[in-house]
Order: sequence, then structure tokens, then C-alpha cells
Amino acid sequence: MDAPYAILEPLEDGIARLLARNPSPYTYTGTQTYFVGGETEAIIVDPGPDSDDHVTAMLEALGKRRLVAIACTHTHRDHSPASRPLKAATGAPIIGCAPLSLEATGPRADAAFDRDYAPDRVLEDGETLFADGIVLEAVATPGHTSNHLCYAVGGALLTGDHVMGWSTTVVVPPDGDMGSYMESLDKLRRREDRVYYPAHGPAIENPTRLVRHMIGHRMQRERQILKRLEAGDSEIGEIVANCYPGLDPRLVPAAGGSVSAHLVELERQGRVERMEGDRWKPA
Ligand SMILES: [Zn+2]
Repeated sequence: MDAPYAILEPLEDGIARLLARNPSPYTYTGTQTYFVGGETEAIIVDPGPDSDDHVTAMLEALGKRRLVAIACTHTHRDHSPASRPLKAATGAPIIGCAPLSLEATGPRADAAFDRDYAPDRVLEDGETLFADGIVLEAVATPGHTSNHLCYAVGGALLTGDHVMGWSTTVVVPPDGDMGSYMESLDKLRRREDRVYYPAHGPAIENPTRLVRHMIGHRMQRERQILKRLEAGDSEIGEIVANCYPGLDPRLVPAAGGSVSAHLVELERQGRVERMEGDRWKPA
């Protein structure tokens, strides 16, 4: 894919971007690592996958600057593993999202998680870090994962996987939570940031409009699922077939995960009931 791999791209005062070479259907052109800071200090956000190429590119981009902190938005394997070689090379602490211990097998299993992530310090909502006088503030945004943080820098927001322009964010149980995701979208709607820089895909100008649109889209999907249950559908497969006509077969599992996330949230609200064998009915 033609993309600016290993090239540090200045975006605005205090923020630059470095793309890792891990393109895929889930990562678009790859993971975008952000550098926040000035001429003498920097914070690296989302160091990305543990690839020698990308670690070398990050160290080159850092140059003689002091690395104040390595911060991750969440612990999917395309975001946090390079925190370890980067810490080993620079001595900088890993400060940011909480560690998540999901099982390797069983109902809490998720192979996409970086199980070796080990932060030196966890940032709570509203806590700040500084690099050359530039402030980076943690904004707790659970939903895509329960430990997801966005980072505000001036009027810009580094959104990780919470909001992306190129694709709908995957929210799949057990760790993904549609209720939390909707609340986190509403939190961003009220912030009114100037621009979003996601971990994958291009910057989002006029982001509040996109967030409103996303909230509307998810609410519409929820109504559609309730309608299907009222019409007699009970299995997730049936609901997917009726709500996503003509869907690429490769995307059926992701759509099933999303329907499942909606059902779990509707169950929490007392609007649907779970029956035997992962079948559902209106409450
Ligand atoms: Zn992710």
C-alpha cells in the first residue's frame, strides 16, 4: 500500500505522526503513532506493534529529545507491544491505559489483546502529562475496550480506536461494551474538539458532526434489532442476515459481534430477554 511509512509527519504545533507498516483489513494502512511535545521533550502515543522497523523509526524520529512517557490508548496488539522495546531503549516509563487481563481461553478470551502490557503508572480520566510545556490529558473512553483512553492535546484529540473516519469501531463482548461505547461517544460530542487524530486512517475535521452521526447510526441499529426480535427473529445469525443484507461474508462475524453487543446492552436495560442457546426475545 502506498502510505508514508517511517516518515515523521508534523500535523500542527506539538503533534506529529509516524505510520507503522502493519496494514490489514483491521488496521487500514497501519497503526499511527503520535509524537506530542517540542524540541527537547516528547511523549509517544500508541507505539504500535512490536516490529524492529517501527521501533527504529520511532527512535530516529525522537532524535536527541528526552522521551517523557510512552502512552497507549488501549492494549490491542497493534497498539501497545512496542512499548516494551521502546522503554528498554530509552528508559522512559509506560504511563497510560490500565492493564487488562483477559483469559487465553474461555468466555473472557480475546487473542487480540496484548497480555504482556505492563504500565509503570495508570492515568485516570483528566490526569495530565507534560512535554516541553505541551499538555496531554487522558480522556477515559471505555467501549471498544474497557481500558480505552483518548488523549487531548490543545483542541486536538488523539482518539485511538474509539472514533475513526475510515471504518466503524468494533465493539464486541465480552470486553467491548455498547452501553459504555455510547456514553463515551456522548462524552466526545460534549467536548467539541477541533480535530481528531485516530490511530488508523486520516485526521477528522469537524469531528462533532461525525460523532453525532455515529450516535444516530448506532441508535438506528438498536431500533432495527428490536424490530427484528418483535418480527420473530431469535438468533444472532438471523438478525445479521435481515439487518445487513448483502454483507460481505468475511464481515459476518464482526456484524454478529456488534449485534451481540447491542443485545447485551438491551438486556441490561431490561428491554430484551436471553433464552437458552444464545437466543433472544423482546422483554
Ligand atoms: Zn483496538
